[in-house]
Amino acid sequence: MQLPSKGKSKNAVLSQMTAWRKNDVRWREGKVFSLVFFAGEEASSVVKEAFNLFFSENGLNPTAFPSLRRFETEVVAMMASLLGGNEQTAGNMTSGGTESIILTCLAAREWGRAQRPAVNTPEIILPTTAHPAFDKAAHYFDMRVIHVPVGDDFRADVAATEAAITSNTVLIVGSAPAYPHGVIDPIQELAALAKKNDLLCHVDACVGGLMLPFVRRLGYDLPNFDLSVPGVTSISADLHKYGYAAKGASVILYRNASLRRHQLFATIEWPGGIYASPTLAGTRPGGPIAAAWAIMNYLGEEGYVQITKRVMATVQRIRETIDAIDDIKILGEPAMSILAIASDSLDIYEVGDELGLMGWHLDRQQHPASLHLTLHGAHVDRSDEFLRDLRTAVVRAKKPSLGKTVRQFLINFARVLVNWLPSRWVSRLFPQAAAKFSGEGGGVPKRSAAMYGMMANLPNRGDIKEVVLDLVEEFTTRQK
Ligand SMILES: *Cc1c(COP(=O)(O)O)cnc(C)c1O
Repeated sequence: MQLPSKGKSKNAVLSQMTAWRKNDVRWREGKVFSLVFFAGEEASSVVKEAFNLFFSENGLNPTAFPSLRRFETEVVAMMASLLGGNEQTAGNMTSGGTESIILTCLAAREWGRAQRPAVNTPEIILPTTAHPAFDKAAHYFDMRVIHVPVGDDFRADVAATEAAITSNTVLIVGSAPAYPHGVIDPIQELAALAKKNDLLCHVDACVGGLMLPFVRRLGYDLPNFDLSVPGVTSISADLHKYGYAAKGASVILYRNASLRRHQLFATIEWPGGIYASPTLAGTRPGGPIAAAWAIMNYLGEEGYVQITKRVMATVQRIRETIDAIDDIKILGEPAMSILAIASDSLDIYEVGDELGLMGWHLDRQQHPASLHLTLHGAHVDRSDEFLRDLRTAVVRAKKPSLGKTVRQFLINFARVLVNWLPSRWVSRLFPQAAAKFSGEGGGVPKRSAAMYGMMANLPNRGDIKEVVLDLVEEFTTRQK
């Protein structure tokens, strides 16, 4: 495609775009359990109007738009007060959880260099359940990640973390909660360990930062997980998840300004003038900053507590029903509204596929195999429908069928094949096989049990990584 030589009418452009949405997941109907967070039409309209009001503004130069600067400092202050901070707390808004985490890793590296110049490759100790954004940061900043396994309860293993500390360690990480199973790591123990060893400790509350404080206010018993815990040096919380803000909004908070200092950048030699920037982005869109301020002021504590109450009631209903179904179970002890469903007796991916055929889109997880639920405002009125379909899906997944037999045959066939073929060939064959099992027409894949089954059987995980990168390239290239 080329840039059209002549422009089209506004109507033509917008109606084409609307038409191309037809294969997108239907999040408004509560059929999706990730990617979109929704607190109702009215809250949504506040966010949109605030976003549009500051649609053109740029937060790059804080002196040009004192309004944006005020929004940002007030959002940071509100988050600090929610997350155990005090007057010392310093932070910034970022474009999302990944940027918040990348910045905290950068700050840890720079802090490490300042403290211990002998350290060449600073190390981050990470529970296996921690978000890949930490691995991404390490990849970008030439740091090393030491993954430590989690316990049977899916929480970070404190003893294993202690054993992983070396003279190169700069940062220990815990999640509140971790995304895969929704459980909170033992933050107090991890932070104490960091303090004892003179290390930094980051709490990833990207998904929990605007949920856990309100869950607690509803009377649920939760451990302390934030800056109020001695030894926690930074915390990240996403406004664009349970803050119900517009996408492109997260917060990174440090215990004090001298820790935050390690994240900042300035150069004074550029012919274009002195250039300073607190976060990764240069140009910083005003919309997400303004929208975050707007929704926090619109909902207030009371509004967030009300939404949280309805979401948690939905969580209870779903958990009770799943507990009552023999073949499936919830993994670990989820602290809020993020759950993983697994099974000891049947292929849980088959259950996911059956639900997929009924229009529900649940993410697949591995080690162990499970389906992921993130429950929010869009699911409150959908739980009966979902639970009815979940029961049906379990019954169908248990029934033997020709399709299942064929798929199992293909999985076994692939297993034999990959043992014989050179790994280069396997990598090449795999995307084609994967495409066969995924959706036609660029929509959501309808069946993935077979693909996951095959992936689990590939002898060389390195192959899978190449295949995944191939797919990323393909997805970011124009479809034919
Ligand atoms: C979503 C999430 C992140 C990453 O945030 P993005 O906004 O997707 O970049 C990090 N950690 C946890 C626990 C998350 O749930």
